[in-house]
Amino acid sequence: MADRTFLSSAGRLAAGLTITMTLGAAGACGAGGAPLGEVEKGRGQADLVLTGGAILTMDPEHPTASALAVRGPRIVAVGNPADVQAWLGPKTRVIELRGRGVTPGLTDTHAHLSGLGGALESVSLRGATSAEEAAARAREAAAKLPAGEWLQGRGWDQNLWPDKKFPARETLDRAVGDRPAALERIDGHALWVSSKALALAGIDRSTDDPKGGKIVRDAGGHPTGVLIDAATQLVESVIPAPSADVRVRRILAAAGAAVAAGLTCVHEMGIDDATVDVYRNLADEDRLPVRVYAFASGTPAVAETLRKRVAEVDRDGTQKFVLRGVKLYADGALGSRGARLLAPYSDDPKNQGLWVTTPEDLRRAAEAAVEAGWQPAIHAIGDAGVRAVLDAFEAARAAHPKADLRMRVEHAQVVAPEDLARFARLGVIASMQPTHATSDMPWAEARVGPERVRGAYAWQTLVKSGAHVAFGSDFPVEEVSPLLGLYAAVTRQDAHGQPAGGWYPDERVSFEQALRGFTVEAAYAAFAERQRGMVKEGMVADLTVFDHPLRGDASLLETAIDYTIVGGAVVFERKR
Ligand SMILES: [Zn+2]
Repeated sequence: MADRTFLSSAGRLAAGLTITMTLGAAGACGAGGAPLGEVEKGRGQADLVLTGGAILTMDPEHPTASALAVRGPRIVAVGNPADVQAWLGPKTRVIELRGRGVTPGLTDTHAHLSGLGGALESVSLRGATSAEEAAARAREAAAKLPAGEWLQGRGWDQNLWPDKKFPARETLDRAVGDRPAALERIDGHALWVSSKALALAGIDRSTDDPKGGKIVRDAGGHPTGVLIDAATQLVESVIPAPSADVRVRRILAAAGAAVAAGLTCVHEMGIDDATVDVYRNLADEDRLPVRVYAFASGTPAVAETLRKRVAEVDRDGTQKFVLRGVKLYADGALGSRGARLLAPYSDDPKNQGLWVTTPEDLRRAAEAAVEAGWQPAIHAIGDAGVRAVLDAFEAARAAHPKADLRMRVEHAQVVAPEDLARFARLGVIASMQPTHATSDMPWAEARVGPERVRGAYAWQTLVKSGAHVAFGSDFPVEEVSPLLGLYAAVTRQDAHGQPAGGWYPDERVSFEQALRGFTVEAAYAAFAERQRGMVKEGMVADLTVFDHPLRGDASLLETAIDYTIVGGAVVFERKR
């Protein structure tokens, strides 16, 4: 069931090539990785050779190498400079690495690429130290917009402000006047809006809280200008949708940022049909520099409709855009106390968080997705949210005992101790974001208390349990660079090396484990581990090249990306 083929457009049917490569690749996956039928060793020349570098292959049989050769989209030789000699020809591009580091192309397994595109065009409130400072940035950005046009922004975090309180619409009104403005909290789970935005959305004292959301109100019941989880939809649904041209512009800008950060693949979490169309067109026109493994934005109702749609399968690992999964939300986030907990918040004893989707609906949605051949990826941050998703996946697993499901819990930030072993047992992937831990560590323990925090961001426990742990960033919630994720994973420290020794350092992972999360496990999480995630003969030539050998220490923060190579094509080259 996980093996359906879907050729989304006539264009892709021109893939006699695809079939050839598929057979070749299948051969290459056998013991010893026999060379591909089409590119026999020593015959023909390589398109690209990298030589004289420090290559971390992630291939357990040959963990390091110093040279490799690429022909078409695939790696045809890995070894030392002598091993690639036979592949050199007059048309071969040779990159002398001069000791540079190389890894399999890094993948971000949880990101919002189209969201990043929007974020690049909206006002950043990241790091603002007060509501007034955030409003001042909004004022500046609004001044550049035509009158009446929506101002959008993102990144405020009241935890960084003196009073740690949610902001008020009046503060924003003073900055933007009568303009509609909608500013997302850093975690995307709360929206700070102007009075005009409330008015356009028809939200007033008489508006009920929607299911799964909350309209923050003052003592008199009047909306204060902050909307949480499902309530953000009330305003978001009245913001005019961007045109196709604007979407293309944003996605290309974001994709450019991704490859400049060394990413060769992004797992795009939850996109609407219009965005899917934009991606498909860009992929068909070969304008997408980065691979996008996408999840349709889902609700239980959407999950039901999946029975009528066919999930795509990228048989040879070279497709630029693949829509195979569906993304759902169990709960909210920890910062805005929307994450659903088994017991109340330690710093808000009357609050247990929210269900964005009820456990019963999650169960129904997971089953519907799996039944139709779609990979479910469900956001769950609180321990109750994670448990509900594991329960839903356990039921889906029981109904499809033989299928290769690779169901994913996105974030899995707070996990009850008794649930930690269930990931490995059920074959459920934990898709986690190391930089969330280092961003959240100043306040996470206040939210969940000293006991529950031990099951929070528990990467090492999950890895040791045998679970598949894939790593990403959740950009634009966090920065795009996967190097920051690698650094957070191995140190559990901020960029200043704080706290000394790391935050709950038992949950750090080794450099090799961290790199696995961004390569081998990331490929597994996309059903692509036979094609990508290692530097190995026969695999797709997705590679990241760094300015020096990659090491698992603070040097990660000072590492530059020199080349990003996707399917054998250099899609980013640092100007020097
Ligand atoms: Zn996300």
